[in-house]
Amino acid sequence: MSLGSGRCHYHPDRAGLGICVECRNVICTECTTQFEGINRCASCLGKRTRALRKLTARNDWSFGAVTLALVSLSVLFGGFFGLAALFKH
Ligand SMILES: [Zn+2]
Ligand SMILES: [Zn+2]
Repeated sequence: MSLGSGRCHYHPDRAGLGICVECRNVICTECTTQFEGINRCASCLGKRTRALRKLTARNDWSFGAVTLALVSLSVLFGGFFGLAALFKH
């Protein structure tokens, strides 16, 4: 194993300085992104960002589901009290 012989996976004309922890490709300084203190190439960071965005979308969906549940619950209670008022007469 010899260090320094690697060339950047995305720039063959540049010397590789780091290795992406995700795809194990040799990357140069420009391609290296330090996210959470871990070396990643730009394409792997993009994948991770997309995954995070998916997570946020799921959170939005659950918020909508909670709102829907609360609304249907209040409708249910409204119907219950309406029925109770009907029986009082
Ligand atoms: Zn990578
Ligand atoms: Zn590069």
